[in-house]
Amino acid sequence: MKKYFAVTIFFTSLLFNAQKGHCYDLDKVLKVEPTPLYEKHLNASKKFNIKILKDAKTVKKYREAGKLNAVNELGKGYRIQKLEYSKAVLTPKAKTALREIAKTFSSKTKGSTLTYTSLTRTLEDQCRLRKVNRNASSGLSSHNYGNAFDVSYVRFNDRLERNERLEKILEKVLKEFENAGKIYFIKEKIQSCYHVTVRT
Ligand SMILES: [Zn+2]
Repeated sequence: MKKYFAVTIFFTSLLFNAQKGHCYDLDKVLKVEPTPLYEKHLNASKKFNIKILKDAKTVKKYREAGKLNAVNELGKGYRIQKLEYSKAVLTPKAKTALREIAKTFSSKTKGSTLTYTSLTRTLEDQCRLRKVNRNASSGLSSHNYGNAFDVSYVRFNDRLERNERLEKILEKVLKEFENAGKIYFIKEKIQSCYHVTVRT
């Protein structure tokens, strides 16, 4: 009985802390210097006229203003993985890029599909993610502005396995979009994905 009581108190205090306030410290987040490779991504994000997305409330506000749009879980050439630490919303321009990349990939592969693994991440989401993944960025990310998404290079046609041919085609499509001035992208080894930031 005593043990049960202690467990109840533990979970009640967890719940209380979660409701009390922020999980992140904005000052600390802002102090982390971006790596040189990542700097152009952040600069591209800042041009979208969206302030850092702090939590679900901020996202809701931008959605109501039409500055962030919901992205369908399934579309031509893609599916979005079940998202735990991000939300399926993007700026209209980023949404278009996500769909165009998938469509181009689909037509070059006679109907293969991509898996998007992460979309818009609020500071709140990022902080929760860091609790389970120490490698997650502690600083600002372009995911915090609604114009970035991750696409897996180990999951095609909804199957988790390496496929060099499809991987090469995906990289080629991303390069085309980058050369056209539409995106920047980085290959992220730990997460096995390409991090894509859409430009204005
Ligand atoms: Zn990313």
